[in-house]
Amino acid sequence: MKLHGSMEINNDELYIGGVSCLKMVEEYKTPLYVFDEELIRKNCRDYRKYFKVDENKNRVAYAGKAFLPGYMCRLIKEENMCLDVVSGGELYTAYKSGFPMENIFFHGNNKTKEEVEMGVKYGVGKFVVDNFYELELLEDVCEKEDKIQEIYFRITPGIEAHTHEYIKTGQIDSKFGFALVNGDLYNAIEKLKNYSRVKLVGLHAHIGSQIFDEEPFLDEVDIMMKLVKEIKEKYNIELTDVDLGGGVGVYYTDEDKPKTIKEFCSAIIDRAEKTCSNLGIEVPKLIIEPGRSIIANAGSTLYTIGSIKDIKDVRVYVSVDGGMTDNIRPSLYHAGYECSIVNKMNKNVENEVTIAGKCCESGDILINNVSISEIESGDTLITTSTGAYGYSMASNYNKIQKPAVIAVKDGEITPVCRRQTYEDVISLEL
Ligand SMILES: *Cc1c(COP(=O)(O)O)cnc(C)c1O
Repeated sequence: MKLHGSMEINNDELYIGGVSCLKMVEEYKTPLYVFDEELIRKNCRDYRKYFKVDENKNRVAYAGKAFLPGYMCRLIKEENMCLDVVSGGELYTAYKSGFPMENIFFHGNNKTKEEVEMGVKYGVGKFVVDNFYELELLEDVCEKEDKIQEIYFRITPGIEAHTHEYIKTGQIDSKFGFALVNGDLYNAIEKLKNYSRVKLVGLHAHIGSQIFDEEPFLDEVDIMMKLVKEIKEKYNIELTDVDLGGGVGVYYTDEDKPKTIKEFCSAIIDRAEKTCSNLGIEVPKLIIEPGRSIIANAGSTLYTIGSIKDIKDVRVYVSVDGGMTDNIRPSLYHAGYECSIVNKMNKNVENEVTIAGKCCESGDILINNVSISEIESGDTLITTSTGAYGYSMASNYNKIQKPAVIAVKDGEITPVCRRQTYEDVISLEL
């Protein structure tokens, strides 16, 4: 198991942020999400530095959907970052935590009227407009509220990249954004002539997630910059902002070979400068929207091992007190993870087992065929890199309570979310 951030081993025992994992479990029970605050902050600072936020007035917006309790909103604010939200619920979380509304980008392919009203009233910085329906809704709401709203158009650039696959198709089969190839982007720009409340200032695209290659991002830069030039020439609209979305890949297992934040950011900035110089245009303000690459490696999950079922010549099932309710990614996309026993870190790894969750689904397997040290029931198991799309995708399936969340730093624990009680679980029932 790879150690991330502040993880260290003392006498066979794993520590994160200077706190022993066994101590966390004693105090907060399991399952428990643990966040390494120093690593989150380091990732934010690396992004700001290498994406030239201060130097070039570029912006880094954390994609809240990866993990967004009030704690994260406050941390992101302290680190002078912007924030992406995709729903009224995320917007409300940010609002309640005192996050500056002008630094919010409001995404989503089907914002409801209620959400549009909420965004306009709160005064979010930018609406990332996905479609004609939203454009009209937004104009109406702004009219009623007597406001002018800055917007980006989300486009489908015809690049799709996920992990190792990278397709350039000019494909338009996406539920997101205005397609380029069928002229929808231009139709949307034409429509703006009839509107007085929405002001187009930029373009946005998001090409996928868990991408290890720089290449698709560089292609995206080229496409976006050409559009900026074309839109200026054709419509005399000066687009000042180009938002490249998120998607930078991270390490989950040793099959993943991610680039550093520095390598990614530098490659993008260099390409933007080169392409703009070739096109004879000024480099617009660049925006990047990392979610996973800020938070994934900073989060881990602690479980208690219960049943160990040795089916001779078939498989050993090691069951933990959580599963798909706190980490849906293995069942949803066969995502891989690493694990260890927190008080046997230096013991020889000698058994191959399968880590199973406790839900009533045979697909509730956290890790298939993983090598691990000698284990017994009652041991504490850690799975690493569960910080992104773990808690934010957690459910109450089987009426299992959502776990507690803590952050650790310099030997101190900060509680982030309390564990749900059974009363919480039935609290909506009338
Ligand atoms: C999901 C998403 C992101 C973040 O993606 P990561 O893979 O977590 O970096 C950024 N922007 C938009 C529009 C998204 O939908």
